Formats: sequence, C-alpha cells, structure tokens
Amino acid sequence: MGQETDRIVVVGAGHAGGSVVAFLRQYGWSGPITLVGAEPIPPYHRPPLSKAWLKGEADAASLALRPENFYADNAIELRLGTVATAIDRATHTLSLNCGESLAYDHLILALGARARKLPLPGADLVGVMELRTAADADRLKAAIGEGRRLAIIGGGYIGLEAAASAQALGAEVTIIEREPRLLARVASPPLSTFFQDFHRSKGVAIELDAGVEALEGQGGQIAAIRLSNGKTIQCDAVLIGVGAVANDELARACGLSCGNGIEVDAASRTSDPAIYAIGDCTFRPLEPYSRNVRLESVPNAIEQSKQAAASLCGRPPPAPEIPWFWSDQYNIRLQIAGMPFDVTETILRGDPATGSFAVFHLAPDATVRSVEAVNAPPEFMAGKLLIAKRKPVPRERLADMAVSMKDLL
Ligand SMILES: Cc1cc2nc3c(=O)[nH]c(=O)nc-3n(C[C@H](O)[C@H](O)[C@H](O)COP(=O)(O)OP(=O)(O)OC[C@H]3O[C@@H](n4cnc5c(N)ncnc54)[C@H](O)[C@@H]3O)c2cc1C
Repeated sequence: MGQETDRIVVVGAGHAGGSVVAFLRQYGWSGPITLVGAEPIPPYHRPPLSKAWLKGEADAASLALRPENFYADNAIELRLGTVATAIDRATHTLSLNCGESLAYDHLILALGARARKLPLPGADLVGVMELRTAADADRLKAAIGEGRRLAIIGGGYIGLEAAASAQALGAEVTIIEREPRLLARVASPPLSTFFQDFHRSKGVAIELDAGVEALEGQGGQIAAIRLSNGKTIQCDAVLIGVGAVANDELARACGLSCGNGIEVDAASRTSDPAIYAIGDCTFRPLEPYSRNVRLESVPNAIEQSKQAAASLCGRPPPAPEIPWFWSDQYNIRLQIAGMPFDVTETILRGDPATGSFAVFHLAPDATVRSVEAVNAPPEFMAGKLLIAKRKPVPRERLADMAVSMKDLL
C-alpha cells in the first residue's frame, strides 16, 4: 500500500489510464497523481471511432471518458501531448520528450496498442489509413462520403465495423481478407458465415483468400489495390485493419519482463514492485483458463484499472471477471464472453437466418468456455454466468430454444 504523500505517475491517457486515475481517487488515494498522454486530448472512448463517431452520430462530449473538469476537480495533473521516452528504475524517474523528467513512487504503464503496419509497396500513399485514434477516425470520415470507394484490408472487427459505417454513409466498400473467412482469428465459422452474408446483403464486396501485392497510386494518391488472386480493386481510400501490437517498448527497454505485452500478475503488478501495467499493453493471467493472454477490450482495461488501484490503495482485490467483448455492425450487436480455449464442441442455439442466435463452445466435460451471441442478450448474460460457474450443461437443452437460459442456470 502506498503512502499519502507518494506520487503516482500514469503513462498513457487512454481508456485504462483515464480509468485508473478515477479509481485511485474513488478508493481514497490522496497523494499526487500525474497522467501523461501522447495524444493532445484527454482520455476518450475508442469503440465509437469505428461506429457512431465515424457515422457522425456522436459528439465530442460523448466521446470523452470523463467530463472536462473531472481532472482538475480531482487534483489529477494532465500532461497531454507528452511522450514518455524512458524509465529509470533505479532512480524512479520517467523521461519525457520535452526534456523534463518526472519522479515517481509508483508508475502505472497504460500504453495501449497501435495499429499493425503492413510493409507493402505504396503503404505511404495519400489516402492509405489506419484506425486507432480520434485523429485517424476524422481522416477516415473525411474520405468516405456518398459514392466514394473504400477498400478495407483486413476482415477483423475494426474492418467490419468501419465497413458497416462507411456503407451507411453511401460509400462503396470492398473488404479484402487473406484468410478463407472473415474474423478468422477471433470468431467461430458460424459467426464468420453470418457476417459475410450480412455484409454482402448490404452491398459490401468481400474478397476472401486474397493477399495484397501492392497499393498503386496516381500522383501520390491511392488509386487501386493489386491482389494476389490477379484482381485489381479501384479505390479512393484504403483502411488497413490487420490487428494491433502492444506498445511495450518502454517496458522492454528498462528490463521489465515481457511476453506478448508487459507481463503482469493478477493485481496488474509488473516484475518491478514499483511499476504496474494495465490495458491493451499487458500480457496478463486469465485465471479460469490457466493462461496468460493479451486482451484488447474496454472491459479488460477497466478490470485491470480496478486491480491496480485496489492494490495501491490497500483494498481487497476485485473479484476476477470473465473477459467479454462487443461489436456493433448495422443493427447487429455481437457480444462475446469467455475464450474458446480447450474447447472440443460447438453448440448452436437459435437460427442465424433469424438474425438472433448464439454459439456456445464447450470443454470435454461439457462446461461452457465461451459464448458468441448475435442479437441475443439473454444467451450472452446467462452464458457469462455459466462460464463462471463451470458447471456442466446438458447439450440438448442448451441447443433447445424452448428451454430458457434462466432454466439452464
Ligand atoms: C476503432 C476501435 C474500435 C474498438 N471497438 C471496441 C469495442 O467495440 N469493444 C471493446 O471492448 N473494445 C473496442 N476497442 C478496443 C478498446 O478501445 C481498447 O481495448 C482500449 O482503448 C484499451 O485501452 P488502453 O488504455 O489500454 O489503450 P489505449 O486506449 O490505446 O490508450 C493508450 C494511450 O497511451 C498513449 N501512449 C502510448 N505510449 C505512450 C508514451 N510513451 N507516452 C505517453 N503516452 C503514450 C497512446 O497514445 C494512447 O493514447 C476498439 C478499439 C478501436 C481502435
């Protein structure tokens, strides 16, 4: 537990950084807190960037994580537009790009992740974009009006959400995916088929099994994408959405243990007792699955913020949570709970043709390990509880829509 006069410095003013400073004050931390962020604006919600914000349906106030005066009212010093460049663990100092350094008693790394780059010829052409920050979203928004041709490289969640938003704005959208199905790394085949069919029904073109050979320009502006299958897709803009990589370089450079991100324990402590790490940048234990994973989700950022704040304030650790995630596309809400580790069986509940169904993934002992629910909140909520309970479920009853999820619990 920290002392009242101890100084906490948080690096990274994203969802995790913006949350942990609030939990620290809520849990009674009275010492000085400084939040250092590379972006020029206070912490904001990233999920709307591919959804409501991109469609022009959200305003700046709703994007902000906290009201403008929250930081001053809670004595949280904001250092925005400021990049932390090095950590000196021996002297407990953090160097900043402005030449200053900050002393800390406890450091929290909330560095997030960044969009993965594709080393393609033409990747630097004007009109080739990524989507991670509000500034990225504004650039993309400006490029996708009525009749504009947007090609999206990568059929993951961000690509599909951007496709749905761009389609709603009247753009002509093509999704290019290297794998034989959309969402190949992150969802089960029934989900992929459902989303493929849905996007196509909305007029989105989908190229599967399609590698990208080169991005071709005209006068420095993107004009077309040459695919490995011999096709050429003409376009006015390109969004590259091929996953994210952890911003863990600061941690690696000062010798903290790292795997696929900064290694932390169940209280979000790194291998240095004075340093915590939270959110997308961490490689964290996931107790129900006896594994370490790197999660990229808002619920994870919030859970780890609570863990770090509780540990620093000497409070009991929060109860472990089942990881969950959501994605909104058109009028579809996909909700996923748990992770499909060690699963041997898939149970489909409901009919995808109705637009509302769920896919349950079971371990050999018939316990639910994860659920993917499409427009099916009861299946999602009960599924999450079933995962936590680790109680075997009768397969036939799970597949039977006549049996309510309540009864299965
Ligand atoms: C378009 C989009 C849509 C998404 N949709 C969903 C969704 O529907 N559901 C969901 O659960 N999740 C979604 N996510 C993921 C979710 O937004 C992230 O999991 C969440 O933002 C993670 O929070 P974080 O604080 O760990 O990282 P981030 O929010 O990325 O914040 C990290 C911050 O640290 C800053 N930083 C990094 N290095 C330094 C440094 N050296 N010095 C100073 N500052 C630094 C970065 O600039 C950044 O501002 C989406 C993400 C994106 C990009």
